[in-house]
Formats: sequence, structure tokens, C-alpha cells
Amino acid sequence: MPSDGIRQFATGMAARAFWNLPGRFGIARLLGRDYSLRCVVFHHISAEPSPFTAGIRVAVSPKRFEEAVRFLTAHYAPVSLEDVLTNRDGRGLPDRAVLVTFDDAYASVSEVAAPLCRQYRVPAVFFVNAAFVDNRRLAPDNLICYIAKTRGVDAINSAAQTVKGKEARQVQTLPEVFGDFLPSLTLSEREVFLDALRRDAGVDGLQLAKDSRLYLTGRQLQELAGFGIEIGNHTYTHAHCRLLTKTEIALEVDRNKAELEALSGSKIRSFSQPYGSSKDLTLDMLDHLERTGHQAAFLSESVANPRRPDLYHLDRMSTCAEGDDHLFFELEVLPRLRATRNRFFPGSASHRPGRCRSSAVPREGAEPDGFVRG
Ligand SMILES: [Zn+2]
Repeated sequence: MPSDGIRQFATGMAARAFWNLPGRFGIARLLGRDYSLRCVVFHHISAEPSPFTAGIRVAVSPKRFEEAVRFLTAHYAPVSLEDVLTNRDGRGLPDRAVLVTFDDAYASVSEVAAPLCRQYRVPAVFFVNAAFVDNRRLAPDNLICYIAKTRGVDAINSAAQTVKGKEARQVQTLPEVFGDFLPSLTLSEREVFLDALRRDAGVDGLQLAKDSRLYLTGRQLQELAGFGIEIGNHTYTHAHCRLLTKTEIALEVDRNKAELEALSGSKIRSFSQPYGSSKDLTLDMLDHLERTGHQAAFLSESVANPRRPDLYHLDRMSTCAEGDDHLFFELEVLPRLRATRNRFFPGSASHRPGRCRSSAVPREGAEPDGFVRG
């Protein structure tokens, strides 16, 4: 069995064992940080395989999502962003407060998740990239998945050479593409890369986006408030932000905020970092967010938030919600272990962008267990 398989098997066993312990919440508390606000992030709620999401574990089936919502309402106190913002030091929040969030602009959030959130009275925040609303263009990650699935990883390497020349390191897997290659590109280099991908594959990007029907419409965006779902900022084009200039930060953040506010008719007051890594939440980005009316910023490094959280570094558990025992382990055990590890071994924090990176405490330089996007 490959090492990842062994690790996942061991984690599954530990999750089950923990879940069956009497007093499991109290035992988990003994493992480390006592944190008040749990945040979870979902992406795409679908059981249908799709070339646009192949290889990135972004999807949770509607059945599993409903089970996860039931689990959260049975064992936690779902809160809204308003609750979080009005209890800035965390003291006024209920015990085991949990904030449910969604990243990216998948239509399935509006069509499947939103009605379930309303049914179970779970408020949520949906962080959207306005560039993809109405299927006007494909998100970079969905295009890359599609090309890798239909043309193979060689097509990715060939397009990478267009940007980096012969210096381009050959990638073998999607985690390498999303974890190493994409973050190394400036915004303009990324556009050259994506253009090369489309051109070499003979793909009409606009038509492909339209046919994919992956993303929500402007009308659906408008209707989300009626489901108790607030809209948040996720940059305009889902950009890695560590190399952005101040001008590019303003373009990505402000254009997204303005378009989402026009579409939804409500104020955008929170931000979720694409790919979830604190490396992308730079000082320039934080400064810009504070100056433009964003009152909270979210990451996805799956580390427990402290008792008095910094609202501009709220961490979330990226989950594929494989079962109640896994969800418990992901929410109560692993985030505390990661917080303890980061406290005593700050250099060991992986800062790997997290998406469904569920199974184990990640090691420096280790491949994420599932996938890499946030
Ligand atoms: Zn995202």
C-alpha cells in the first residue's frame, strides 16, 4: 500500500476509534488549544464525476453534505458572519460555535447546499469570484483539470514551457501544478499559461465555460440572501496573491467586491483567500482589505483558531466530509494537533493550501493527502 494509502488508513482507524470513545469532545479538548470558533469550508456539492473537477477533491455528494449539516447542527451551534463580527473577541459566541462557508462559484452551492442550509437553519458565507458568474469564463483550476483529464499532463508541461521556457520544471501531478507551479506565476504569466493551454488544446474557452454550467448565475446570487447565505469576496479571478502588486491586489479585490455588490444588492464585508494559504495573505493584502471595508479574512490551513481569534486570520477546516467520525476528527482533533505543532515547531507549518486536505497532520514538503485548492 502506498504511504499515502497507509496514512489515510491509519487516520481512518484513529477517527473511528476517537468517535467511539465516551466523552470524546472532552478528550479532544485535552489535546491542545481550546478554541471557540470552528469554521468549515465546502466547495462543490455534487455526486457527478466531471472532467472540470477531476483530480481535485472539491466535491461532496448531496447526501454526504446533508449528513454533515445534520452532524453540525447536532453537535455544534451554527453561527452567522454577523455573529462572528459582533463578538469580535469570541466571548459572546455559543459553545462549539461553527461557521459554515463555501468557496468558489459553483452553482451547486445555490442549487443543492442553500436549500439544505435553510432547511436546517444553518447560516453560511459563500465566497464568490465574480468573473465566473453566469459561466462567462472557466476558473483557472477547472480549465487545468479539464486539460489534464482530456489531454494529459504533458499538455500542462507544454504550456508551462511557454511561460518559463526550458527552466520550467516538469510536473507529474495536479498537486504539483496547484501547489508549486501556479503560485510561482505572476498574474500576467498565469494568463499567458492559460492562453497556451487553450490554444494548444484547441479549446474555445468561452464556449467551454458556457457548456460546463459549473457556476451560479447572477439571479441565483441575488436569491442566496433568502437562504441565509451571505456573499463574500474570493478575488475576481481566483488568484494566488503572494506575487500580486498593490495595483493588482486592488484590481482583484475591488472589482470583485463592486460586481458582487451590484449583483447581490448587499454589502461585501469578508474575504476568503484563494487556495487558503497564509503565504498569500500578505501585509499589502491585509492593508487593502482593511481599507476597503472587509471586516474578516479566512484561510484554509485547517488549524484551530485561538480562543480570541484574529478576524483577519480565521482558519477553516477544508473538508470532504467523508463520515461523521472523519468530520469529528477533522474539527476536533487534527486542528488542535496542528496548532500545537505550529506553536512548538513554527518552521514545520506546511502552509500548503488546503482543500480536502483531511487525513493527517501535513509534513513540510509532503504531498497533500487529497488536494490542494482553496
Ligand atoms: Zn477558491
